[in-house]
Amino acid sequence: MAGVALTPVIVLGATGSIGRQTLEVANHLDLPVLGLAAGTLSEKIIELAYHYPDASVAIAHPPAGTIDAALKHRIAFGPGAVAALARTPHTIVVNGIVGAAGLEPSLAALEAGNRLALANKESLLTGGPIVLETLRASDGDLIPVDSEHSAVWHCLRGERADEVRRVILTASGGPFHASPDVNLRDVSVDDALAHPTWNMGRRISIDSATLMNKAFEVIEAHYLFELDYDQIDVMIHPTSYVHSFVEFVDGVVKAEVGPPDMKKPIQNAMTAPRRVGASVGSPSLAGVELSFSEPDRERFPALDLGYRAGRRGGNGPAILNAADEVAVAAFLEGRIRFTDIATVVEETLETVPAAPVTSLAEALESDAIGRTAAGEAIAARTFR
Ligand code: MG
Repeated sequence: MAGVALTPVIVLGATGSIGRQTLEVANHLDLPVLGLAAGTLSEKIIELAYHYPDASVAIAHPPAGTIDAALKHRIAFGPGAVAALARTPHTIVVNGIVGAAGLEPSLAALEAGNRLALANKESLLTGGPIVLETLRASDGDLIPVDSEHSAVWHCLRGERADEVRRVILTASGGPFHASPDVNLRDVSVDDALAHPTWNMGRRISIDSATLMNKAFEVIEAHYLFELDYDQIDVMIHPTSYVHSFVEFVDGVVKAEVGPPDMKKPIQNAMTAPRRVGASVGSPSLAGVELSFSEPDRERFPALDLGYRAGRRGGNGPAILNAADEVAVAAFLEGRIRFTDIATVVEETLETVPAAPVTSLAEALESDAIGRTAAGEAIAARTFR
C-alpha cells in the first residue's frame, strides 16, 4: 500500500473464522505471513503451511501420526511453540485462538514489543489484570479485533479519556429478543443457534442468545479502555449496523457504522493509526433500519452477571467465562435447559471465593477452578 509501511503478520488460530478472514485481509494488504498457529494438526493447517512457504507453523497439541517430511522442519509442537511464535520480533500478532489457551501467546506478543490484534476474549476475561500490566511494561500495543471494541477504539481516537461520559455497546439481542412471548425455558439448541445478523461459531451464538457475549464485552471494554463499569452501557440494536457509541461529557455522541463484517476491525488492527484502501465495500446507508432499545435484564440475567463478575474483579471474569463455557457445552449436549446456563454461572460465581489474578498461573488456575465448580453445579442438581 502506497506510503504506508506495513508489518508482517503472525496468525494464531489460523484455521478458525478470524484466522481465515485475517489471511484474506493480509492478502489484500500484501502483508507477508510469517507465522501460523493452530490447536491441532488438520488438513486445513497443512494446506495453509504449503500456501505460505515462509511461515513458521506452531501446533499446540502434538499429533499421534507422522508429518510430511517437507513440512517437518517448519512445524513446532506444544503450547510453548505457539507463545514462541507470538514472540517473533517486529510482527503484528493476530490472536484468534478460542479459549484460555490464547492468554499466554497474548502476553508473549506484548512482552516481545509486538502489536497484539486481539480477538481472543479469554485473554482479557481470564487474565485482564496481567494483560494490562504487561502492556504497560512493554513496547507492545493492543488493538481490539471485535466489532464493538473496534468501534469504541475509533470513536476514542483523538479524544481525552477524562472527557468520556460513557460507552454504549450495541447488541443484536440474539434470536429471542424480538419475541418476548417465547418461553426461554423451552427453546431448543437449533432455535438458540439461529443468530439474526452474524454467522458465528456455536458457543458465541449461544452466548449472543443469552447476552453473555455482551457481558463479556462489557468486561473487555473495562480493561481495554480503562472505564468504570458505571460508564459502560448496553443497548439492543437488532440490525448490528451501529457497532457501538461513545458519549462525551458535553453530550456529543460518536458512532462507528456499517454492515457487520469482521474484515473491517481486522484490517484496522493491522494498519492503525493509518487508513488504507478497504478490503470491504462501501456501506450502503439508504434503507438501513436503526432502532435501539434497553436490554431486558430479567429475561437475560447473564448481562448483569457480567457486571457483577467484572466489579468483583480478580478471578471474577475468569470464573464467569469458565462457568459459561461448561454450561453452554452442557446445553449444546442437551443436558441442561437454555435458562439453566445463567443459573449455573451464577451458582459457580457464588461458590468460588474471590481471589486476585496476578500471574499467568493464577489466571489459568482460576479458569480450571471455574470449570470444575460449574461441572459440579450441573451434576449436583437435576435441571430437567
Ligand atoms: Mg462482538
